Amino acid sequence: MKKIYLYGNWKMHMLPSEAEAFCSELLSGTAEELYSTRSIDIALFPPYISITPVARMLPENSFYKAGAQDGWFEDRGAFTGAVSMDMIREIGCTHVLVGHSERRSIFGDTDEIVGRKLKQAVQKGLIPVLCFGETLEQREAGQTLAILGKQLLAAWKDIEADEIKGTSELPGILLAYEPVWAIGTGRNAKAADAQEACAFSRNLFKERFGEHMDCPVLYGGSVKESNAAELLSQQDIDGALIGGASLKVGSFLGIYENYRKSAD
Ligand code: PEP
Repeated sequence: MKKIYLYGNWKMHMLPSEAEAFCSELLSGTAEELYSTRSIDIALFPPYISITPVARMLPENSFYKAGAQDGWFEDRGAFTGAVSMDMIREIGCTHVLVGHSERRSIFGDTDEIVGRKLKQAVQKGLIPVLCFGETLEQREAGQTLAILGKQLLAAWKDIEADEIKGTSELPGILLAYEPVWAIGTGRNAKAADAQEACAFSRNLFKERFGEHMDCPVLYGGSVKESNAAELLSQQDIDGALIGGASLKVGSFLGIYENYRKSAD
């Protein structure tokens, strides 16, 4: 069975007290002996205010990780409302989402800003999860792969291969293909379409950074228990970035369990 990356983006949900309750339930539901022998990597991306309780509760150096949903590209200064990558690291994050479609469409993150955030994350030793994806209009116009290529090339324009420092345990970067029209809509991409986009993105990554470089590619967009097995069994889909279904331990772990049952 391949390693599965089960990443939960909580968006603007979960008060610190709710995050603590979630982690207690998660830790009791992921029996160490079962999960540590299976290949799984679980990361939670709470809102900033709830990162500290999550990072404190998740066992260190385990298959659980904490991440932030965004980070700014400057070290420090007059950037009201922003949070730096150093701050994120210091409160216990190993990961950071970069370029989520809600940051792009609601908060105005351009391809250039996404590129600067990605570079800053890598330089500060965080593992970025680079999110990208097409709108419905772009898909219907047959532009999907062209748009994905444009977003990816712009994001890693200023990054060199030796800056991406993965280990055998942890990748230096992950890609998350998230079609905008599938996020939060209940309408997931067809497995074959998601596979095509993820394979394309992986190949582009190798072309840019070298054949020997690999990075996990996640699919995101209305992943739930009922579609998990089909999506996660695709050859180039290494895991899922999950929004709505990551807010309850049962539906979050159910995604992995359904895949596991189908793959066993
Ligand atoms: C997301 O927030 O990245 C996401 C994929 O959300 P949902 O699973 O709710 O579509």
